[in-house]
Amino acid sequence: MRLSRYFLPVLKETPAEAQIASHRLMLRAGMIKQASAGIYSWLPLGFRVLKKIEQIVHEEQIRAGHIPMLMPTIQPADLWQESGRYNAYGPEMLRIRDRHDRDMLYGPTNEEMITDIFRTHVSSYKDLPLTLYHIQWKFRDEIRPRFGVMRGREFYMKDGYNFDLDYDSAIHAYNRHMVSYLRTYERMGLQAIPMRADSGPIGGEDTHEFLVLAETGESEVFYDSAITDLKLGSRDVDFDDRDACAEIVREWTTPYARTDETHDPHRFAEVPEERRRTSRGIEVGQIFYFGTKYSEPMGAMVNTADGQRVPVHMGSHGIGVSRLLGAIIEASHDEAGIIWPEGVTPFHCGIVNLKQGDGEADGACAKLYQALCDRGLDPLYDDRAERAGAKFATMDLIGLPWRLTVGPRGLKNGVVELTSRRTGESEELSPEAAIDRVAQIY
Ligand code: ATP
Ligand code: MG
Ligand code: MG
Ligand code: MG
Repeated sequence: MRLSRYFLPVLKETPAEAQIASHRLMLRAGMIKQASAGIYSWLPLGFRVLKKIEQIVHEEQIRAGHIPMLMPTIQPADLWQESGRYNAYGPEMLRIRDRHDRDMLYGPTNEEMITDIFRTHVSSYKDLPLTLYHIQWKFRDEIRPRFGVMRGREFYMKDGYNFDLDYDSAIHAYNRHMVSYLRTYERMGLQAIPMRADSGPIGGEDTHEFLVLAETGESEVFYDSAITDLKLGSRDVDFDDRDACAEIVREWTTPYARTDETHDPHRFAEVPEERRRTSRGIEVGQIFYFGTKYSEPMGAMVNTADGQRVPVHMGSHGIGVSRLLGAIIEASHDEAGIIWPEGVTPFHCGIVNLKQGDGEADGACAKLYQALCDRGLDPLYDDRAERAGAKFATMDLIGLPWRLTVGPRGLKNGVVELTSRRTGESEELSPEAAIDRVAQIY
């Protein structure tokens, strides 16, 4: 993309309404624009990152054997009357009446709708296990929408639902989700710690939240610092292998890690003092096993091998796709702006032309740009007739992890400069070597 042809409405002023860094930076970098409280338009730069995050979530869900689909945003109220949640859900639910006076709602989550799909089409144990998921907009009329996309009213969520014949199989689904979530967050350059949590209005017994440590997080968290040393890295996981998944879950759930809702001071006191940490965290996902809480009232039954009819065991599993943008920025920024991890960056690298209009510099930039595109990369070329300082400031603000700087002086010596946004370190390389280096990083 050439910046002169793009739509990047960067703000000079710091928006007064934004209380935390990620919200401020997303507004300043022209990523989002508020439409009304807690409801945002995704401007091109924000939209690119949202799609990158969504893509990683899809890839990791599919890797775990889960099946993508799409349910609507608007749901009929009668499904929620069946489960008993229509009245229980309270004012967070946006209730709508259509022209025929039918009660509808903008879905805050999809347990009822997926259970209805299941009971319509599945009746035999032979069709199990099954995990379906979608990534769709949700609406919750939050009492205090704030912090930009972090606590929106309209937000983008991945929600997945497992259907299993028995408890053991459903626990495998739970474990599979935990492992796939760990992989998902790691690919985004994030550390999200699974913590034992409280089940809230979804209901159920087993549940973990995934929290990104950040001072601006809304949850108070207590953990053994040993958990922050754990990493999946390049471990090859067989998602069909129950023991392998259970072993990874055991590894991640052994060190103490809880939110304020489930915190147990006596157990915490058993953690060696030098490893005891109290901090704040941002909830970026949650997994639940809730057994037959929905299948029983809604009649989602299957026939077993010996001819019995039993309600399916279910769980639901969510990732806050749009909240993740805020969480990643909270975890990765500095005074000058955002620092995107390579996995989610909107463009792989920036190209800054120090002397726009200079034939040689323009030509070298155009060649670099084309060569990077030919390697399957997405560069952002700042080809505007602006001062070098302004171009650097824009690149720093929007946070591309790598920047190539091209100017007449360097070109005389046959070099361009490659700069890391994270460390600020620069290196002079021939254009060919610079292209190889950037291609190697991705
Ligand atoms: P919170 O405790 O922050 O209100 P929740 O526990 O109500 O979240 P879940 O029902 O567990 O949310 O939904 C799954 C995920 O969706 C959450 O882990 C979070 O990342 C995201 N999410 C929930 N509410 C919002 C919101 N208002 N804006 C953006 N993302 C949200
Ligand atoms: Mg909530
Ligand atoms: Mg919560
Ligand atoms: Mg939650």
